[in-house]
Amino acid sequence: MPPSALEAVAESQGRTQDNGRKRVIVVGLGMVGVAFIEKLLDRDAVAREYSILVLGEENHVAYNRVGLTEFFAHRNVKDLYLNPESWYTDMDSTRFAYRIGIKVSGIDREHKSVVCADGKSFAYDILVLATGSDAVLPPDVATQGGKGVFVYRTISDFEQMIDWAERLDEGGIITKKRAIVVGGGLLGLEAAKAVKDMERFDDVTIVHRSKWLLSQQLDEVGGSFLVEKVRETGVTVRLSTEIKKIQWDDDKRLTSVTYQDGTTEDCQMLCYAIGIRSRDAIGAAAGLTCHKRGGIIINDQMKSSDDSIYAVGECANWREQTFGLIGPGVEMTDVLTWNMTQAKLHAPRSFTEPDLGTRLKLMGVDVASFGDFFADRNGPKKLPGRHGKKAKSAPTKDDVRALTYQDPFGGIYKKLIFSADGKYLLGGILFGNVSEYTKFNALVKAGRPLDKSPSEFLVGARGDDDAQVCSCHNVSKGALVVKIRDGTCKSIGELKSCTKAGTACGGCESTVKGIFNAEMKAMGAEVSNALCIHFSMSRADLFNVIMVRKFTTFEDVMKNVSTNPMASGCEICKPTIGSILASVYNRHVMDTQVHGLQDTNDRYLGNIQRNGTFSVIPRISAGEVTPEKLIVLGEVAKEYNLYCKITGGQRIDMFGAQKQDLPAIWKKLNDGGFESGHAYGKSLRTVKSCVGTTWCRYGIGDSVGMAVRLEERYKSIRSPHKIKGAVSGYVRDCAEFHNKDFGLVAVQAGFNVFVGGNGGMKPAHAQLLQENVLPDRVIALLDRYLMFYIRTADRLQRTARWLEALPGGIEYLRDVIVHDKLGICAELEKQMQELVGSFFDEWNVAIKDAKKKSAFRQFVNTDKRIGTIETVSERGQPRPADWPAELHMKTFVARHGQMKCGSPHPRYDENGSAYISCPLHKRNYILSNGEKAGSCKDDDAQSITTFEAKEEDGQVWLKLPPGVFAPYNATAEALGSDPTSGSNPNRIVKGAFIEGYPNTTVLEGVKAASYMVEMVKKYPGQVSIYATGAMTNVALAVILDDEFARRAKELVIMGGYVDDNMYQATGTTNEADINSDINLMIDPEAAKIALTAPFPKITIAGNVANQGIASQDFQAEIYQVKNSYSKLIHDYYPTIFPFWDETAMALLIDPTLATNTSIVYMDVDTAYSSPSYGNVHVYQKALMPPNVRTVHYVNTIDAKRFKNMIKNAVQYPKTCADLKKL
Ligand SMILES: Cc1cc2nc3c(=O)[nH]c(=O)nc-3n(C[C@H](O)[C@H](O)[C@H](O)COP(=O)(O)OP(=O)(O)OC[C@H]3O[C@@H](n4cnc5c(N)ncnc54)[C@H](O)[C@@H]3O)c2cc1C
Repeated sequence: MPPSALEAVAESQGRTQDNGRKRVIVVGLGMVGVAFIEKLLDRDAVAREYSILVLGEENHVAYNRVGLTEFFAHRNVKDLYLNPESWYTDMDSTRFAYRIGIKVSGIDREHKSVVCADGKSFAYDILVLATGSDAVLPPDVATQGGKGVFVYRTISDFEQMIDWAERLDEGGIITKKRAIVVGGGLLGLEAAKAVKDMERFDDVTIVHRSKWLLSQQLDEVGGSFLVEKVRETGVTVRLSTEIKKIQWDDDKRLTSVTYQDGTTEDCQMLCYAIGIRSRDAIGAAAGLTCHKRGGIIINDQMKSSDDSIYAVGECANWREQTFGLIGPGVEMTDVLTWNMTQAKLHAPRSFTEPDLGTRLKLMGVDVASFGDFFADRNGPKKLPGRHGKKAKSAPTKDDVRALTYQDPFGGIYKKLIFSADGKYLLGGILFGNVSEYTKFNALVKAGRPLDKSPSEFLVGARGDDDAQVCSCHNVSKGALVVKIRDGTCKSIGELKSCTKAGTACGGCESTVKGIFNAEMKAMGAEVSNALCIHFSMSRADLFNVIMVRKFTTFEDVMKNVSTNPMASGCEICKPTIGSILASVYNRHVMDTQVHGLQDTNDRYLGNIQRNGTFSVIPRISAGEVTPEKLIVLGEVAKEYNLYCKITGGQRIDMFGAQKQDLPAIWKKLNDGGFESGHAYGKSLRTVKSCVGTTWCRYGIGDSVGMAVRLEERYKSIRSPHKIKGAVSGYVRDCAEFHNKDFGLVAVQAGFNVFVGGNGGMKPAHAQLLQENVLPDRVIALLDRYLMFYIRTADRLQRTARWLEALPGGIEYLRDVIVHDKLGICAELEKQMQELVGSFFDEWNVAIKDAKKKSAFRQFVNTDKRIGTIETVSERGQPRPADWPAELHMKTFVARHGQMKCGSPHPRYDENGSAYISCPLHKRNYILSNGEKAGSCKDDDAQSITTFEAKEEDGQVWLKLPPGVFAPYNATAEALGSDPTSGSNPNRIVKGAFIEGYPNTTVLEGVKAASYMVEMVKKYPGQVSIYATGAMTNVALAVILDDEFARRAKELVIMGGYVDDNMYQATGTTNEADINSDINLMIDPEAAKIALTAPFPKITIAGNVANQGIASQDFQAEIYQVKNSYSKLIHDYYPTIFPFWDETAMALLIDPTLATNTSIVYMDVDTAYSSPSYGNVHVYQKALMPPNVRTVHYVNTIDAKRFKNMIKNAVQYPKTCADLKKL
């Protein structure tokens, strides 16, 4: 019995209680009644508006009626309880009380109270009737009142049946016993199983009016399969018949029955399972409108004809229907409790046509039906998508197609019903194997077009190894996994270069990394995830250490946990620690102790733009803005001549603010009610929203209200990367939640919450974290999710990549965040609460703090300012002036191995020494002269090459070391081998021409690039540019003069380092293994500039030179005509070498020499950190990346003719006089 403390609450007669809560009385503690109570307690947990009293007639708390049949096995009713008794007794007594074994006998609507059979009455504000139904007996049977006839609905019914069966032998006269169950539907089959389990009967018979069993749920094929299975269990099945007459003995005990066809059978127990009738008596007696076939009539909100009385479950009649299944009853409680608790924050809900699909285990057989499972027999109830809208008349069975699978051996039957075009799954029936029920049911409910053909649903789908990881090189996950597992690739670099995944656009790099790490881990290998050279731990570990050990400054962290406590950190760990400290303590990013840790944008609380000005983006939560605030923005923009643009996150971006103006601008914005929008920080940007129920005709959720709440809550929190959110008020998704770090879409039952979406370089669809989240639970869920992300993600890792890398992915995240698998949810929520509770507006603080404000001055020692920014007007707004076409490059690109840095911004450390930072690799390099020049401040493994430089005559001169092409050249000069040129790097010296020096003028002081530009200008369309070495000078000429390439006749290149793309492009193995030439690789940027410049034609003569080897015989042949040139060739030209330069030059002179040329597209890999950096990639048209152009790649030449050309040129050389004749 309930404790007495509860009774006081329950019996209180006052209209309102001391605590101001509304009193809810529930009549009937059955399956639906308890579902209502659970939901109301849950949904009212935050607002606490109600207290509940439930009155139940049965002597048990709510039990699982669906599992009644199991009772026979255990005979312990407690095993059937839906909630243990402690659930009832431990409940907060001010919110919930219960009484069992008490029947409500009447309702006093006038005084709003219920009267019980024992005379007690209880007051209500809201009355909920959940009285269920009675199992019906045929009227004539009911009136006969004989012994041995039962119904099967309650524990008590079952106990009586057991008792009867067990006492049948008492007289000892019955030799053969039979039990008959009337009704072959769901309840009949359950009852038959129960009776069979009793093992008291020699025969159990099911009598059913239809041609097959379970005719409400199965079609004839499925039903026939079931009949067969039931018969296999030893139960007799009599179909298409009824019991006409019952015979009794003198003691009114059942003896036999007679069927429709006149057959009479002995029978000792008869159980009717032919239907139910709603228990509406107390409602009807109180004057509530009831249906003639039973049931308290309710509207779509479950309200009866009395505004204070509702009915749910089997006792209710909705649109002339009562439902004998638990699903619709629970759905009713969902609607009702929703409207009682959440409808203030969300659109109210209505009950709609329920899902009558079922998944059952009957007599040991799995059976399921879902969706519109008789659509092929009766025609579909409705058609989804455009079909439904286009239809002029009601759809018929011609609008659907069914696919069936029958396995009589395995006892499996599957029927799937699709729209006629195969695009939508409408419903189906599963027999024997119902494992796909959930999936199919979800597909039907989603009502979305299918992504595969109907037949695939019958035969199964492909595994995720086929999933494409790298779309540039079409590399699947499986291809990566194989290379890792077979040991070919032991590092990410090896994996990338071997499979090419991640080497083109780089967008899949983190996915590749994730797959590599996961596979290595699965293989038991250790994968280092150290943050940087200064920390041997990951960002997530560092976060925990900082949080637990309460470090508050960068110095603390370095001193206590860095691998080098004396180090000053690097461009990786400094902002990371800055961000962690901000996430844990939320200090102002301009505070002295942390200011130095921030990225540039954070330092000045604004995003720096390409002309050095800053953007100003105030917060406009959810995009909702008043006219007054718009005016403030307009005034500020006008005063400071700012360019205005609406951002994708629904706010107004004002560009072109000068650093020194930022405080004044923000002061005005602050005064106008604006706060910082944190567009500069790795923090929450915006929560985009559609207008939802505020304006939209379709809106079912208050998307604006929710988005405002979320944006206001999470504004300013610092995280591993920026975060964006969205809330859509309806599935049309106008707020585009799918590509957001968190996205909500309003559904009838609340919000479906998606996480891990991403736009940007590698878009990712957000994944469903939890559906039907109550509006007032969204914040708790997101608190956990965001804090878990903040704590565990890697630096600069967006939620999408983090989720991808999380072992177990979304399921794991769901376990942690929704099911609290790690038991940390309360802590995550608490931590987030502390963080958001410490909010302050960074700009508001900055403009009031003289020290912080001074950081924005143009000059440190004066308030004077000079104008340095040049703008132009475009479409009525200012924008930065274009960069000059003639760009004087003062930025040096220095390279060491694959590390490149280009920075025009030297910085100075505390000792005044200059250094530059590579913004991409986050490393600092020393610029000062001396031994350390070029070395990395933070990482001994890295360095850059620096050159001495001087400025003279307005030019910057670099002193390049001799043998800049080292290590290749080292083989000749540096090793002392001196073929012809001695120590002169100009190589062509008089001494080399033993028999005579050609009559050539050396253009002293003329630079190759400017000379080429000059010549091409002078002789447009006539000058062929011939490159036999690095493309540096050609590229320089292209940069010096925009018209250079276009005006030249052509570019002919000797060289070409190609890979096996070449094989695919040209189809010849001859070229497939060419890697003999360094001319393109030596200066990849230059090669890229030259190869993509608009030369009218580019010809590449690479390994085609292999066709003209300088053999001993050929040299002897040449020397048959003796002159200084043939002697030079004969004596000095190495015999094993191809005529590289000669081949290319011959092709320049006579292109018809080429016998096979492929027109291909060529590109040079200049992507930072690409393992194939410097490689030339050759593409066929179908695969080419953007911005590459055609190149004539010569595959073969007429080698005989070529050798003759050489022979003639050397034996009978042209003189200057000959040239003049030309
Ligand atoms: C054997 C069996 C198997 C089933 N199997 C399935 C199945 O597989 N799938 C499925 O979907 N459904 C199944 N059902 C149906 C399902 O159990 C019902 O739909 C569900 O129990 C209905 O819940 P309810 O709360 O409306 O009614 P009930 O569960 O019947 O609860 C009503 C309660 O109200 C009490 N009550 C009535 N009048 C008063 C009063 N005046 N004062 C106080 N108390 C009162 C009753 O005693 C009862 O305890 C099965 C039913 C049975 C009997």
